[in-house]
Amino acid sequence: MPDTSRPHISHPGTTNNVDYLIIGAGVAGLRAAATLADHGDVLVVTKEALGESNTNYAQGGIAVALSGPEDIALHLKDTEYAGDGLVHRPAAEILVTEGPRRVEELIQWGANFDRHGNELLLAREAAHSLPRILHANGDATGAEISRALLAHARQHPRIHFADWTMLHGLIVKDNRVIGATLLTHTDAPNPALQRISARATLIASGGAGQVYSDTTNPAVATGDGIALASQAGAELADMEFYQFHPTALALPGVPRFLLSEALRGEGAYLRNAQGERFMERYHELLELAPRDVVARAIAREGIAVDSASGASIELPVYLDLRHLTSIDLTERFPGISRFLAQHNLTLASDLIPVRPAAHYLMGGIRTDLDGRSSLKGLYAAGEAACTGVHGANRLASNSLLEGLVFGARAAGAILADALPAEEPQQSELETQHGSEPLDAEAQAIAAELKTMMWRHAGLLRDEAGLRSGLDLFWPMLERYESLADKAQPTRAIIETGSLLETAWMILKSALERKESRGAHFREDHPKRNDAQYAQHSIVNDEGVVLYEPLG
Ligand SMILES: Cc1cc2nc3c(=O)[nH]c(=O)nc-3n(C[C@H](O)[C@H](O)[C@H](O)COP(=O)(O)OP(=O)(O)OC[C@H]3O[C@@H](n4cnc5c(N)ncnc54)[C@H](O)[C@@H]3O)c2cc1C
Repeated sequence: MPDTSRPHISHPGTTNNVDYLIIGAGVAGLRAAATLADHGDVLVVTKEALGESNTNYAQGGIAVALSGPEDIALHLKDTEYAGDGLVHRPAAEILVTEGPRRVEELIQWGANFDRHGNELLLAREAAHSLPRILHANGDATGAEISRALLAHARQHPRIHFADWTMLHGLIVKDNRVIGATLLTHTDAPNPALQRISARATLIASGGAGQVYSDTTNPAVATGDGIALASQAGAELADMEFYQFHPTALALPGVPRFLLSEALRGEGAYLRNAQGERFMERYHELLELAPRDVVARAIAREGIAVDSASGASIELPVYLDLRHLTSIDLTERFPGISRFLAQHNLTLASDLIPVRPAAHYLMGGIRTDLDGRSSLKGLYAAGEAACTGVHGANRLASNSLLEGLVFGARAAGAILADALPAEEPQQSELETQHGSEPLDAEAQAIAAELKTMMWRHAGLLRDEAGLRSGLDLFWPMLERYESLADKAQPTRAIIETGSLLETAWMILKSALERKESRGAHFREDHPKRNDAQYAQHSIVNDEGVVLYEPLG
């Protein structure tokens, strides 16, 4: 359960000026706050209750090489292999070498990872060449990390939180981000729009899984930080690379609950509708092949064409753990077991129906190795950022580590840059009440968009599909724009705008990359093409896609 308590909550109405503004209270935002608070006042803004974030739902664990240089070198090799020729090596080197220090620090701050006696327990996940995943409470690693970081932050008098408050826009003056407009009290009937100035603003607002109809991500993951940074003029990178997790629960009417990779790490098989283990036809690592390979294999096994009518038929694909009799699966996976029990399923005795679902955005706000975006005063870390660390495909359990490592580095860069304080902003702006019919229309547009994205920019892409997606996109945008012109800012209006912006970036970048690499699979260009595309895609502020190295 997310942490819903409200210590130190100071809605920005009480101030219009802060040293450091952080958008997002997941692992990246909270880790950055811990460093910045020793040097100034920090306001951490979060869209819902504290702790409601992708971080909170992370199950499997955090990958880290704790046994010295050889282990670190192997972690780098695995990260690069999964990233399919696009990992920005300096970023990955930083991740694996600074990771152990950051995790040890987190343990000192009170994070309890599972142990046998004093020994930390290590799990194995797909594409890791050995067990190196720390986990907590079996399958609730993110919740424990979130708990520990929040507890640490609460002890700091200079960290303030504004929950149920969302980024509405960035304020840019002379090419520098000098603050933001925030919509506060979004849980109340009449939210308020306020301006706040800051010496530096860090976007740590996570991913955008909600741009797809099928996703493991919670409702807050609508790509707001990425979209609003782009609108302010920041460059984005690698937006075509969306990772689809292979195994989300596939029950009609039930959200796509994640069934962690750690289940396959413990030895679970994948079976098709005929009960056949099929991964040997797709990859030598079988069920532990990289995520993109497994996700596409499940997508292919999960569909058949009716020979009489030519229509597609959906077929079930299952996770099978029934042979793992030496493991107490309820003890090892308590959260997953509890959720499945609500649907009368048991890991030890049932075949569990699965489908891929949108999970993690490798792309995001283009940053250097220290979180600096292309706009002065604006920094990004965690899933909202793109350092190139994951390349075209993230290695399982590398993103919690990314949040710790690059959250800390972004804070370091903010302090090093030491930008001067800005004039306080006029605090409160005029707003009237939002209108329910306009919110409902915005939500309807968002629902159509998600279905379109799943169909046209999902796991298996081609030019015709992506172009049809764009054809459907423009009328949705037009409808949204005429709505947004007359609407008061509300959560629904802001989120739908962000989803549209993010969707366009994904469609456009996916159309331009005429090759298959990592999570981006083009049926019309099924091979990797290093001669033309061994670079990162950058969408600049004019919406043009360029290919460049990351710096
Ligand atoms: C079900 C699931 C399981 C996962 N399992 C693992 C795993 O085992 N290991 C692993 O390494 N990774 C895992 N991941 C991925 C990982 O959890 C995320 O990539 C990572 O936690 C992202 O951290 P973050 O700090 O960048 O963003 P998040 O944790 O997503 O935090 C984003 C924050 O920004 C806030 N926010 C969003 N928009 C706004 C706005 N407009 N205004 C204000 N605030 C805003 C949110 O409220 C939230 O506080 C999993 C993800 C999911 C969804």
